[in-house]
Amino acid sequence: MAPLPKRKRSKSSKGHHKSHNALSPVSMGNCPNCGSVKAPHRACQACGYYNGRQVIKVGTPEAE
Ligand SMILES: [Zn+2]
Repeated sequence: MAPLPKRKRSKSSKGHHKSHNALSPVSMGNCPNCGSVKAPHRACQACGYYNGRQVIKVGTPEAE
């Protein structure tokens, strides 16, 4: 037999418990190279730059 809760958790109790489960908003910064919005500690999706140099190719066709 698996251990099971003795009683149903009330809506109020569940609400109080779940009040700490909110997701924090995703923080975004601006690319110092092109100025578009990008995630911190990740290469820019628009220009492919990170830490002052191009690290990923952008604008190239999918098939190479
Ligand atoms: Zn950029």
